[in-house]
Formats: sequence, C-alpha cells, structure tokens
Amino acid sequence: MQHNLCVYNTLSRTKQPFRPLHEGRVGMYVCGPTVYGDAHLGHARPAITFDILFRYLTHLGYKVRYVRNITDVGHLEHDADEGEDKIAKKARLEQLEPMEVVQHYLNRYHHDMEALNVLPPSIEPHASGHIIEQIEYIRRILDAGYAYESQGSVYFDVEKYNHDHPYGKLSGRNIEDLISSTRALDGQSEKRNPLDFALWKKAAPEHIMHWPSPWSEGFPGWHLECSTMGTKYLGDTFDIHGGGMDLMFPHHECEIAQSVAAQGHEAVRYWMHNNMITINGKKMGKSYNNFITLEEFFNGSHPLLQQPYSPMVIRFFILQAQYRSTVDFSNEALQASEKALEKMTDIYRRLGNLSAAPQSSVTLPDFTAQAYAAMDDDLNTPMVIATLFEAGKIINQATDGAVTLSQADIDALRKLFDTFLVEIMGIRVEAKGADKGTAAYEGAVDLIMEIRKNAKAAKDWATSDLIRDRLASLGFDVKDTKNGVEWKLL
Ligand code: ZN
Repeated sequence: MQHNLCVYNTLSRTKQPFRPLHEGRVGMYVCGPTVYGDAHLGHARPAITFDILFRYLTHLGYKVRYVRNITDVGHLEHDADEGEDKIAKKARLEQLEPMEVVQHYLNRYHHDMEALNVLPPSIEPHASGHIIEQIEYIRRILDAGYAYESQGSVYFDVEKYNHDHPYGKLSGRNIEDLISSTRALDGQSEKRNPLDFALWKKAAPEHIMHWPSPWSEGFPGWHLECSTMGTKYLGDTFDIHGGGMDLMFPHHECEIAQSVAAQGHEAVRYWMHNNMITINGKKMGKSYNNFITLEEFFNGSHPLLQQPYSPMVIRFFILQAQYRSTVDFSNEALQASEKALEKMTDIYRRLGNLSAAPQSSVTLPDFTAQAYAAMDDDLNTPMVIATLFEAGKIINQATDGAVTLSQADIDALRKLFDTFLVEIMGIRVEAKGADKGTAAYEGAVDLIMEIRKNAKAAKDWATSDLIRDRLASLGFDVKDTKNGVEWKLL
C-alpha cells in the first residue's frame, strides 16, 4: 500500500521516509520496564508512543513484529558496580524469591498497560531467559577484540572501539570530553578506562541472581540484553529501535557499540526516542518525591493529585503532545485533557446518532487525508486530534440542525473517527460518565469503609456491624487485612 510515513531518526537527526528492510514487514524493538516497582507516569509515555507506532504500521498493512523486553536480571544502578541490585533488595525486604518480585510487578505492569489500552507486544522476552545468548554475544565481542576479561568480569573496551568507530554518535557526545569528565570519578581498578562498561559482571557473594559463565558466576551487563534479544528475534539488522530519550546515553550508545563490535555493522536502521514527562516543571526523581504511579493516577491517592484521572485521560493527555516534545504534568493540564476527551466522546456519540439527509448542505474538507498527513508527519497526534475536533464542529452543527449531511458523508466521518480515534490512537470511547461513575462509586464505598473504621476505633460496634452486614447483604465481600480493609463486589 502507498503511504508516506516519515519518522525522525535520532541517529541522522532528520525526518526520513520510512522504508522497511523487508517488503511488507517491520521489525521493531522497544526497551521495556525493569520490574522492581510499580509503573509510573514515565513508563506510560514510551509505552503509548510506541503503541501508536505499532498500531499505525499495522493499520498501514505491515506485518509488525514488536519486541519489548523485560529487564529482570536485577542489575545494579546501571554501571555502578557496588551495592545490591534492586530486585534482590526487594526480594530480601519482602522475603520473596527474586522471580516472585519480577512476576508480581510484571503482572501489575500488564494490568496498567491494559488499562491504558496499550496493545501487548508480539514478543516480550525476559533478560533472565536469554543468558546463554548473551554469553554467546560477549564471546563475539571478545573474539573481535573489543572487550577484555578482568578478575572474572568482562568489559567493553570503549577507547579501543572509539579508535576504529565513532562512540557517542547517537547522543552526539564527544568521547574525549567524556574521558576527561569521568576519569576523576574512577574508583574501579578492574577497568582500563572508566567509560568501559560491563558485559559480564562477576557476582559478589551477596548478589543472589547469578549464572555460570566461562568467566565467573555472575550476570550480564544491562546494555547487552537489548543487543542480544533484538537481533535474536528481529535479525542482525532490523528496522526500528525505540525508547525514552533518557536511554539514549549510555544505554543505546552502548548497544550500537556492541552490535558493531560483535556483528561488524549496526543493527538498527531507525532510532526513535520519546521525550520525557516533567511534573510541575521538574524532572521526575526520587529527590523531588514526585514519582506518581499509574495506579495513584487512576485512584487519585497521591498527595500531588487533586482528583483521580482515568487511564483514557492519561492516554489522551500524552497524545495531545507530539512524542518528541516535552510534556509537563499538572492537575490543570490533566483537567483540561479530561474536558477535551469528554468533548471528543460527545462528538463521537453524536456522530453515532446522526441521521442522513438526501444531500449534504456543506462540502466537507478531506479530513481523512489531513489525518493521514498528520500521522505520516512523525506521528503528529496533536494534529490528528485537531483534525477530529474540526470534523466535530460539523458533526455538532448537524446534530443541531444547522447543516445536513448525506449518508455518504456520515459514513466517511464515522470511518474517520473509528480509524483515527479508536483504532490508531487507541482511545476507548466509554458511555458517558462511565469512568467518572466508577471513580465516584469506588470513592463512596471507600468512604463507608472509613466510617466503619472510625466506628470500630470508637468501639461503636453497632455501627460497624450494621455497615458490614448491610454491605454483605448488598453482595460486598469485606475483609479486614493487615494492610487495612479490602472490599470487592461478589
Ligand atoms: Zn534496552
């Protein structure tokens, strides 16, 4: 099929026409989550950005193989070599097997993604399930002479690599500057150069996630899993690699170096990066205490939130910006998105109820061509939304009787909304107030639970029993647990 999709390639720093390597097929890889905690707003943006790309490519008729990995090896803080890895720490604190921690947070991640209407990828490989392939990849880099063994660990030789190939070309960094800025920080005697990154790391005795290798009992370096699993499932060269801009350096830079070292050439043809989300103008970070989990957005429980925001409001909010621009979260911005989404939903519902006249009294602009042009322009979703609102003006006029529309025009408008709003942008159009109703209902039951808790605290057993019995007769299952009261409707 004929199309003109152009995407911004971070590597060439230009918008390029998208031409896949194999006719009719697209291979795409996106860095997925590290599973040791709940997904927050920062996870939603890459997930939604590349979901849109996945949906659009599929819509254009491509057979897309979309690989999104799960980082579950329990790395240390990136390349820091000291301390306890995060999954192991969580496992120790919660007295769980590390893979229980992984599964727990992976289930929750999937639940959040499903709420956001993010389609599951075609393959979701775990780093821990590809240790043999990663060891093999390290061997290839060692054989090529771009890595060295040191006290049971294997490091990538950045200086030697940079002598033959430019290191830092993706992020535009200059290796000489990097060397001078990192040399002072170096406390590692194992490495030849502080910029060298671990391909394999010998496990300290307290490191509970480790595997046998030719070099030591240890674990693979973080950057390695993406090079290994990307090429395993998509081939030595594949079309698209995506991720957040924060992964550009060092993660993706290291991936490029690993591919060139192991394979003799780069693996990725189009590098695509989504920009970050700030919260009230600040980066999300532990020191700001502004990590808001998606769950907290959905139930409104974080102190920075004035109200709950439904998953579709979060999705719409993210799509109202082009993926390469920054997005700043604030209650005002999300409330504006909530209103805009409500307006869009109203338009969609009116469109469903329109009845046709023998002839249209207006000539419709080619909204469909406009929406395709916007998507083709590096996934310009805010422009698609603007086009749908333009079409909405005419739909509202038709509803009010100010204009008439023929059946052909109504059909074209319905196809426009079904294609771009529902299929490509993945907006679930709920019945009016469904999300609001659910939030209000849950809030009301929580309030009753709070009254019961207060009654119990005041030893007002009559009130607390009355609430429990009446809720039971309405079909609620109420349980007192050590984490508080849990309820569900049976
Ligand atoms: Zn990655």
